[in-house]
Formats: sequence, C-alpha cells, structure tokens
Amino acid sequence: MAKQRLQQCLGCGAFGLQRTCLVCGGSAQAAAPLKWSPEDHRAGLRRKMNGVEAKEWPQSLPTLPSAEAMEAQLEEE
Ligand SMILES: [Zn+2]
Repeated sequence: MAKQRLQQCLGCGAFGLQRTCLVCGGSAQAAAPLKWSPEDHRAGLRRKMNGVEAKEWPQSLPTLPSAEAMEAQLEEE
C-alpha cells in the first residue's frame, strides 16, 4: 500500500506534509481519504440532503454568462 503523505493536524485541521502542524505546532496524522464506492450507496441520501429533486434546485446551480456576453467582455479588455 502506498505511503500516505498528506497529513492533517489533529488540533486545527490544517493540511500539510509534515507530522507537526506548520500552523499551530500540533501533531498531524495521515489524512484518510473519504470512503468511495462506484456503486455510491449513499447517493439517495445525499440527493435528499441537497434537495436535488425539488423543482427550485436547478435554479440554485451556478451558471456562466452566455457565450456572447463572455466574448463581449473579452473584446472590452
Ligand atoms: Zn494545527
């Protein structure tokens, strides 16, 4: 198994590569990656938590300006 280099401070939660925190001087230990499965067992729970099935949800997503607006902004610069 590959050695985990990324460490997370137990005191302040800052990330770093050393076993001692550069922010607060506390001790840091290997930051465990989130458990992940291609089957995504908690997808339904996460959708419910984020309200994805509500009609208003798509409007809450961030959007880019239209391509014409972006081109116009580039021409201004
Ligand atoms: Zn710290």
